[in-house]
Amino acid sequence: MIRLSGVAKSYGPVVAVDGIDLEIAAGEIFCLLGPSGCGKTTLLRTIGGFEAPDRGRIELDGIDVTAAPPWSRPVNTVFQSYALFPHLSVAANVRFGLETLAMSETERDARVAEMLALVKLSDFAARKPDRLSGGQRQRVAIARALARHPKVLLLDEPLSALDRKLREETRLELVELQARLGIAFVFVTHDQDEAMAISDRVGVMERGRLVQVAPPAELYERPATRFVAEFVGRVNLIARAEGGWLAVRPEKLRLGEGPARGTIRECQYLGERRLVFLDSALGPLTASVAGDWPVPPNGAEIAFGWAPDAGTVLVR
Ligand code: ADP
Ligand code: MG
Repeated sequence: MIRLSGVAKSYGPVVAVDGIDLEIAAGEIFCLLGPSGCGKTTLLRTIGGFEAPDRGRIELDGIDVTAAPPWSRPVNTVFQSYALFPHLSVAANVRFGLETLAMSETERDARVAEMLALVKLSDFAARKPDRLSGGQRQRVAIARALARHPKVLLLDEPLSALDRKLREETRLELVELQARLGIAFVFVTHDQDEAMAISDRVGVMERGRLVQVAPPAELYERPATRFVAEFVGRVNLIARAEGGWLAVRPEKLRLGEGPARGTIRECQYLGERRLVFLDSALGPLTASVAGDWPVPPNGAEIAFGWAPDAGTVLVR
């Protein structure tokens, strides 16, 4: 559906996107994940047609759109700010997305009604955006972007303005919506939990480059680099005599058995699990155990280890 080949974009001396090759399938939820400033928005904007790449090629549905203006591409974007018109009603905001399409008024009305039903806002058609909650505003922005029936929806940190509980609910709604529509979602976030929760695949970006593209479980279980291991979840990096590190996730560290010895520095109770911070000859380590596991007191010595296949060797 989307094919990027060698896409690069600089702003003066700043290399924002540094040679991206990527294919995204129709019907996929693909997340671009990375820290602030790594080039996520710039890459999304080149797919949307709001930025022209300096190099490379962008194909949508087999058609080269590298030089095509945004409105002629079969994609639409939900911006971080939502950019709703405050003086227009919900229905008029959604209808605005259809302005440049050749449709009759009746068709337009029907499309607006269809979109409001899709995002469960039919009862709010006449409201102004300032009388909606953050989550509802976000759904208006999505309805407006979907009104033109794009083949790809681009979403730039669409949940970042919502509080935690609403963000988690809205995540779920987005995944359900995407499944119903069957179109590709390209979703930008700096929040690894969000990326893991919603994606079919995640592309981790670091300084303008994609360092790993994989399904969430593979990113977590088999990170390709130290950067990915540390960005996606907690990790223990144990230096190897041969060079590089062994990356062991906290839940893979077994406490109370094994060949190594550590001292319990601190224990944090998180409900369903506990994080146990150890000092050891291998350096400081973190273990995650079940919340009801009887952790010895701080200062106590404890045996630990991990299964032979528990870690990933990282060389960079
Ligand atoms: P992200 O969305 O991952 O936070 P961006 O794509 O916004 O990252 O930015 C990537 C880099 O490009 C940053 O160093 C940023 O300062 C720079 N940048 C982005 N947009 C512009 C612009 N319009 N002019 C100059 N520099 C920009
Ligand atoms: Mg951004």
